[in-house]
Amino acid sequence: MDELTIRQLHEKLKNKEFSAQEIVESFLKNIEQKDANLHAFITPTGELALAQAKKVDEKIARGEEISLLAGVPCAVKDSILVESVRCTVGSKILENYIAPYDATVVRKLRDEGAVFVGKTNLDEFNMGASTENSAFGVTKNPYDLTRVAGGSSGGSAASVAANEALVALGADTGGSIRLPAAFCGVVGLKPTYGTVSRHGLIAMASSLDQIGPIAKTAEDAEAVFEAICGRDAFDATSLAYQYESLYDFDVKNLRIGVAKEFFGEGLMPKIAELVKAAIKKLETAGATVREISLPHAKYALAAYYIINTSEVSANLARFDGIRYGKSASRGQNLLDVYLQSRGKYLGAEVKRRIMLGTYALSAGYYDAYYLKAQKVRTLLQQDFAAAFADVDVIMGPPSPFLPFKIGERTEDPLTMYLVDLYTVPVNLVGLPALSLPVGYTQELPVGLQIIGKPLQENLLFAVAKDLEKLA
Ligand code: GLN
Repeated sequence: MDELTIRQLHEKLKNKEFSAQEIVESFLKNIEQKDANLHAFITPTGELALAQAKKVDEKIARGEEISLLAGVPCAVKDSILVESVRCTVGSKILENYIAPYDATVVRKLRDEGAVFVGKTNLDEFNMGASTENSAFGVTKNPYDLTRVAGGSSGGSAASVAANEALVALGADTGGSIRLPAAFCGVVGLKPTYGTVSRHGLIAMASSLDQIGPIAKTAEDAEAVFEAICGRDAFDATSLAYQYESLYDFDVKNLRIGVAKEFFGEGLMPKIAELVKAAIKKLETAGATVREISLPHAKYALAAYYIINTSEVSANLARFDGIRYGKSASRGQNLLDVYLQSRGKYLGAEVKRRIMLGTYALSAGYYDAYYLKAQKVRTLLQQDFAAAFADVDVIMGPPSPFLPFKIGERTEDPLTMYLVDLYTVPVNLVGLPALSLPVGYTQELPVGLQIIGKPLQENLLFAVAKDLEKLA
């Protein structure tokens, strides 16, 4: 049951081959058996899932139509609010925070009848690439429990890979969907900025954050994306956007750009080989492949870590023990409460970023850092626009490395930041990008990153579905 796609599950549910209750039970059993080792979940919500499944079954019993996602077990990253369920963002400061409302994406999935099996582990406030920064312990890679699942949406990707959920929601600010998807051998989409509402997502860096789906197949990820996208009055940056699947896609018309900057020094040769082999398959099927260049991509990581930390320093001001978050109440005065609460309950990486961002935005340094980083953003946008004049998609690896050993990159923060080399450029310019599993080496999964023009998620899914068939 847990190996079915959404569409297969939907048909079987409609034909009464099994009930929504039975589906959920089978996934909950996987959680029970595997999650003590894997630790994909911070807060499992089995009871909620069973209650939701019951409603779906009642609907079927009444002979009513059910939507495609009805009864689909879904995991939700613990930075996205599910009403009345704890939402920790992987931080001690929100350890006891109960979400007062549903995020828009959650409400949309709830309306479709999806069932929520639990809230998944992540790096504290989404800051990291391995979930090792979570205050609630690390998520292990389902392919090798001594290795990381990637991050920050590591719990979401691992839960799908381990059949603890059929699909999951993640959020991607600098790679947090695509990287764990690649590390866990599943599909992940970072949508175009603005296509999915961020209402009810605990903000990290608001000009970069975007919620997206994680699933085992491109078709399943597409179904979730279709359900969650669209304009939302609660998020002024959301676009009036109607998703339409691309039914007349022909690989023979596809022009693929291969950015040489994504195959630079430090990329593991075997990953480059597998990514190139996947591109070759499309070429053999009729696609055109040409080399392109993104000359300013080399500055993306530096610009990202200035913009990210600057926005983090502003967004996290609200977690002060008064407005939000646990309070260290022994303070002598208000400032003391702030200092003590933040000092005690925020982790090292979070504090580091708040300090870096505050510094980058400070009066004497604003022009030298923040403003300059924003200029890099514009140059990068021009690079992509120029490249996309001749190609429809750009391909490369999502990660220069394989899933690394737990603890291998925790000593020096810069070695962790390097993991984001190939994922952050698209966040800076708001483009959609999908990570698709394309092979294995050393028994670990390897992904392909497919970057598209704004609002061309449908092309990314069409290409991914084609490639799945060619595999
Ligand atoms: N690893 C990146 C960072 O730490 C990406 C995080 C994210 O996308 N949330 O900033």
